[in-house]
Amino acid sequence: MTTVTCICGKTSLKFAAEPGVVAECGCCDCRQKVRWAAAQAGRDWKPTLLTLNYVVDDVVGVTGAENLRMVQLRNDGAEFITAVCCYSVLAVPAGYYNGQFVAVFAQGCKLECKAPTPTIRYSASDFPGPLPPYEGENIAVALHPSKYRGANPAGTTAEQTGVNAWVKHLRASAVREGHGPGKFGETSRALMTRLHGSSAAKVLGLTPLEPGIE
Ligand SMILES: [Zn+2]
Ligand SMILES: [Zn+2]
Repeated sequence: MTTVTCICGKTSLKFAAEPGVVAECGCCDCRQKVRWAAAQAGRDWKPTLLTLNYVVDDVVGVTGAENLRMVQLRNDGAEFITAVCCYSVLAVPAGYYNGQFVAVFAQGCKLECKAPTPTIRYSASDFPGPLPPYEGENIAVALHPSKYRGANPAGTTAEQTGVNAWVKHLRASAVREGHGPGKFGETSRALMTRLHGSSAAKVLGLTPLEPGIE
């Protein structure tokens, strides 16, 4: 079970599975989401390397459903679910995950789960300032190009190979444990459709965050 609770505590999503894969990401696209959320809520913003917990998209519990919204910061960005009570970033059910899983930023919400050791670090070159040493295991190492915009999550062949490796690893861990999208509950998109009649994101039209910018 993975429980994602917003920072103020009013809104939460429970996913049936534990995270199958954990990645660290320094990319502008991820950072812009948490940065935007902090700005909406007037929270202090200090950029950190984000820890992405990939969880099978199977929501089995919701609180504060009235606060959930699907948002997309840029035309070419990845959509995500925010809780408007405090503008936490709860889950990223990006289209390129093919409805299989969501990414949860440990730094965008309060996260309770048994997270495995990180197996990948992306986009270190996009991150402003020094990064902590990578201490995870390597099943694959992919570095997004510094001009990563989210529309093409794996720009080069090497990156695509890396992405394929962890998707395979994630699916294998989900299957091994008997999980699947919406298997015990509903997918996050089905949830948003049930709540709002559509899972389409509200596109905010922001400009991209440049690499190296906080
Ligand atoms: Zn909240
Ligand atoms: Zn990222």
